Amino acid sequence: MTSPNEIPLSRPDITALEEELVLRTLRSGRLSIGPVVEQFEAAVAARVGCHHGIAVNSGTSGLHMCMLGLGIGPGDEVITTPFSFIASANCILMTGATPVFVDICPRTLNMDPAKVEAAIGKRTKAILAVETFGNPAYFDQYTAIAARHELPMIEDCCEALGATLKGRPAGHFGRCGVFGFYPNKQITTGEGGLIVTDDARFADMCRSLRNQGRPLGWSAPKAAEPTHGGTATGSWLRHERLGYNYRMSEINAALGVAQMRRLDEMIAKRQRVSRWYMERLGGHKDLVLPTVEDDVNMSWFVYVVRLAPSYTSDERDRIIRGLRAHDIGASDYFPCIHLQTHFRELGFRPGMFPIAESVSNRTIALPFFNDMTQKDIDIVVGTLELMISRENLGRG
Ligand SMILES: *Cc1c(COP(=O)(O)O)cnc(C)c1O
Repeated sequence: MTSPNEIPLSRPDITALEEELVLRTLRSGRLSIGPVVEQFEAAVAARVGCHHGIAVNSGTSGLHMCMLGLGIGPGDEVITTPFSFIASANCILMTGATPVFVDICPRTLNMDPAKVEAAIGKRTKAILAVETFGNPAYFDQYTAIAARHELPMIEDCCEALGATLKGRPAGHFGRCGVFGFYPNKQITTGEGGLIVTDDARFADMCRSLRNQGRPLGWSAPKAAEPTHGGTATGSWLRHERLGYNYRMSEINAALGVAQMRRLDEMIAKRQRVSRWYMERLGGHKDLVLPTVEDDVNMSWFVYVVRLAPSYTSDERDRIIRGLRAHDIGASDYFPCIHLQTHFRELGFRPGMFPIAESVSNRTIALPFFNDMTQKDIDIVVGTLELMISRENLGRG
């Protein structure tokens, strides 16, 4: 159980608007394959400036579908980052393709563009780039590299809804982009994800794959008639390819529609919290704070600080445990993907991506949510300073 004084790592921001729209959907009698999903898709696509939006039941299924929609499979290589949430590399394994990791830049924590280009080979079929912690740095460069080599780029923008680089929105840099709506993201649908793209054929393919491989161009019956009652609606039981059930329900979409209406308000709140952290922690000799390039407009996903190189990963873990013991949420975003068990079994080893590994050993994600107060920040910062002190770590 959580204590009343707990400051959690993240917390969704749900208001009367969300409650109202979800309740309206519950009472509508139509809980799947209906107008609210379409409304949510249109809202996200419009925000990102893409022609098509395809809502799915998680960011992971969205990424998996992008791989399938691009025809990626066994024997193919996909270039990606080792410093991310596991799903951005798992989606490559799901298709039988091989991930080719490239190391990151220590400032932006995104893939080093020069290393991306150097990793392209005969078997490379795509570049899967991640806006780590919501930062779109280098995405224009990745787009240019992909174009030069005639490769599709998949943008894992799960952490970056609302961010821009040189005025261009995250989600609009790749052949397709995937947003995620787990409760710790900028907006949530409970569980959910959404693919954006300008490519009409690819969008159609994703809609079919999401919906059990139903024929391209299949559309939902307009009235709230039973869709499981046989072939009365024509093509409900016709399947043209191996598909999945990756659909988002109307209930989740209703939550998303409400959250999208509040997106700017929520981004501003997160911006404010990040500024408070910056003000309180800036100049601290033992911490590296997140940096934002001049041409980037961040949409803050998390607030992750990094300990100075003199700290070991053991000490970092002790600091996180100490914060938690004081009812303060903290986490080690992210352990390197290539060092997770099933990737080690593929032959990946420590030392292969030294920058990602060194960053990953020293990161601490601090509590970060829309309605954090300055008092919360004071408590977090005070406790963090205590935990990282030499006395506390027994180095004094
Ligand atoms: C959140 C996230 C995803 C998708 O996660 P789901 O829980 O499947 O919605 C994918 N990639 C990254 C980088 C993420 O942060």
